[in-house]
Amino acid sequence: MMINYKKLQRAEFIKMTGGLAFLMLSNKWSFAESSLSSELVSTAQKRQEYTISLLKQLVTDIGPRASGSKAYAKAAKIVLKEMQRSLPEVNYDKYEFDDWGPISSSDLIVAGQHIEAIPQKRGYGTPAEGVKGIFAKNGSGYAIIDEQSAHIQAYFSVNQYGRAIAGSGSGNLDKSVPVFGLGKQDIPLLDRMAKNKSQAWIKSEYKPIHKAPGINVIGRIPGKSKSEILIIAHLDSIFNTPGANDNAASVIVMLMLAHAASARQSNHSLTFVASDSEEYVFEGAYHYANSRIADNTMQDIKYVLNFDSLTYGPNLWINSKDQGVKDMIRDIHKDLNIESTPIYGENDGFVMDSLPFKPSGARALHANSRGYDEKTLPVYHRPDDTADKVPLDCVETSFQVFDEFIKRVDRL
Ligand SMILES: [Zn+2]
Repeated sequence: MMINYKKLQRAEFIKMTGGLAFLMLSNKWSFAESSLSSELVSTAQKRQEYTISLLKQLVTDIGPRASGSKAYAKAAKIVLKEMQRSLPEVNYDKYEFDDWGPISSSDLIVAGQHIEAIPQKRGYGTPAEGVKGIFAKNGSGYAIIDEQSAHIQAYFSVNQYGRAIAGSGSGNLDKSVPVFGLGKQDIPLLDRMAKNKSQAWIKSEYKPIHKAPGINVIGRIPGKSKSEILIIAHLDSIFNTPGANDNAASVIVMLMLAHAASARQSNHSLTFVASDSEEYVFEGAYHYANSRIADNTMQDIKYVLNFDSLTYGPNLWINSKDQGVKDMIRDIHKDLNIESTPIYGENDGFVMDSLPFKPSGARALHANSRGYDEKTLPVYHRPDDTADKVPLDCVETSFQVFDEFIKRVDRL
C-alpha cells in the first residue's frame, strides 16, 4: 500500500490551521493577534502616537483621577481595554475603602494677606468658623498656634518644587490637626509673618465618602516558568491634578512594554499592575500583594519594577540595593547608545507601591527621573501637570531601557 505523504501533510496542515482558527475564535487572545497588537509599539513613531493618544484619553479627557472617584474608574476601564489588546489574562482587582476628602477650603489669611493653601486629602477639616491664632514656624513647615493653650490649630507643609500642593502631615502632629500645603515662593513672606507673630486664619470642610471603590488593573502573560517579573505603575492622581507626569505617562510606558512583550515567548511570567490609591498609603498595591500572599504565589515574583514619574527628565533615577540590577541598567544605556545618565538612589527599591511586595524577596527597582527639573518639577501635584507637560523623549527612553531590561532578565 502506498502512502501519499503529500496528502497527509496537507491533511495535517488543515488540522493544524483549523485548530489555530478555533483557538483564535475561542479565545480573545492568540499569538497571531498579539503579534498584531505588538505592532502598536514597534517603532519610535508608533510609540509616540500611542503615547499622545493615551495621554489624551487618560489625562486631558478625564482630568484628575483620584482614588475612589468616577474619573478613576473611567481611567481603569481604558487601561483594562488597552491591556486586553495584547495580554492573555486581564482582570480588575477590586476592593473597598473608607474615603473622605476636602470639599472646600479657604486661602490662608495672615495679617490680612491671602496666601494659596491646599488641604490634605484624607486629612481633617477645621470647625465651620475656621481656626485662628498666631502664625509660627514649626519643624520644616509652619503652624497656626492658639494663643492661650499653645496648641497647634493647623499645620502647613511647604512644596519644595514650586507652588502650593495638597498638604502632607508631619510625623509628630496630633492626628486630628488640619493640614494644608503652601508654595515655596511664599517662604520669605511666611518667614516674615512668623517673625512678626502675625494673626492667621484658615478654613476647610471635609466630607466622608464611605465604601469607595478601589480598582487595580492586572494584566498577565504566562511564561514557560512560574518565575515572574512584576511591573507596577500607579494610575491614580491627587484630587486636584490630572497627573500626566505623575503617573499617567509611566502607566503608558508600562502598557507599551506589555504590548511589546506579548509578541515574545518569555521564560518568565510577566505581570503588569496599574495600581490604585498610591497617593493614599498604597492601598491598591497592598490589596494586590495581599492577594498574592493569600494564594501562595508571592514567592514566584523574582523581579519587581516600580515606575513612578519616569518623565521628569531623561535621566532615570534608579533605586535598588541590587548591584546586578544597577549594572544592567548602566550597561543597557551604553549598549543602546542612550545619551542620558542614570542616577542611583539609596533606597532598596521596595518603596511606596513596591513595598508591599517585599515579602517576595525579589530583586527590586524603583524608578523615578530627573533632568528637565525646571520644566517638570513645578507641576508636581499641581493642576497644570497636563498632557502637554510630558516630555515625549523621556517616554521613549524609559520604554527602550525597560524593554531591554525585561529581555535581559528573561535570559538569566
Ligand atoms: Zn506618583
